[in-house]
Amino acid sequence: MRAAFFKEHGGAEKILYDDYRDPAPGPDDVVVRVRACALNHVDMLLLDGRFPPPEGLPHVNGCEVAGTIETLGAGVKGLGRGRRVIIFPGFACGGCEYCVRGERTVCVKYGYLGAHKDGGYAELVRAPAANILPLPEAIAFEAGAALPLAMLTAWHALVARAGLGPGQTVLVQAAGSGVGSAAIQIARLVGARVITTVGSDDKVEFARALGAERVVNYRTQDFVDAVRTWTDKRGVDVVVEHIGGETFEKSVYALTRLGTLVTIGSHDTHWGRLDLRHVYSKNLRVVGTNLGSILELRTILDYVTAGRLEPVIDRAFPLKDARAAVQYVLDRKNKGKVLLIP
Ligand SMILES: [Zn+2]
Repeated sequence: MRAAFFKEHGGAEKILYDDYRDPAPGPDDVVVRVRACALNHVDMLLLDGRFPPPEGLPHVNGCEVAGTIETLGAGVKGLGRGRRVIIFPGFACGGCEYCVRGERTVCVKYGYLGAHKDGGYAELVRAPAANILPLPEAIAFEAGAALPLAMLTAWHALVARAGLGPGQTVLVQAAGSGVGSAAIQIARLVGARVITTVGSDDKVEFARALGAERVVNYRTQDFVDAVRTWTDKRGVDVVVEHIGGETFEKSVYALTRLGTLVTIGSHDTHWGRLDLRHVYSKNLRVVGTNLGSILELRTILDYVTAGRLEPVIDRAFPLKDARAAVQYVLDRKNKGKVLLIP
């Protein structure tokens, strides 16, 4: 098959488009013909070596895949060739203490499609049959590819981890990102009010259209000041944060008493300071989250089918132009998801 892969760490220029070993399914696996694969920030960490692929190089990125079933392992039942599907990107052992508790995202052997295994920047990708979800006819492959990581992570962060509810206020960092654009919609869906940040004025209207009531350009305005003004000095109930560093630190100051900060990534830096006085005196919660459950992904499919949630697609590149697509994301030009189409 053809794939976009890398043999050395570095920038977008390290991505090659060439022949690559065909994936061979084990007895409980399927091979999916990729129809669309979405880019994610984690791809950039894998590429530049900040998160080197555990199985070594060469490596194919791509955690979010929609496609059709091409080949089935001998033991796979209930799925047929040609079926439209998406792939749940998290792998769990099923047997450790956390898996047994039903908390598979914190499995001691947790792994991701496109990180711990070759991913979807390719014509074909292998995944366990247990990770396959049918993609309803009403959802295009392009939209399907924007759900399994970005939309699911935002859903789990807001609904399960923060317990966001009607009438609450939430600060969503980086409306232009895949996870930010998903979080704004999910917050609106549960009846919360949203303030969000953008890095350029041309993203303001985009964020408003998603449902944000207040949009702050963090390059020209202090977002903590903006939150204080917007909430009449109270602060927000929930912050969704995935930048790290100073953004993380200031996000804590944007919370009201008993508020919750959900950290779902560290796009700029893995480090963040905390003034502990804010945490204990205001009884704050700082919680981590990664991905979500297959059941939550099914719920998201229902909402997308019903038109209540809509993944935001910025643009699609042909797979052979993966290098340009990666550069586009590295340059932060995207508003929503960027896709590769084999
Ligand atoms: Zn486990």
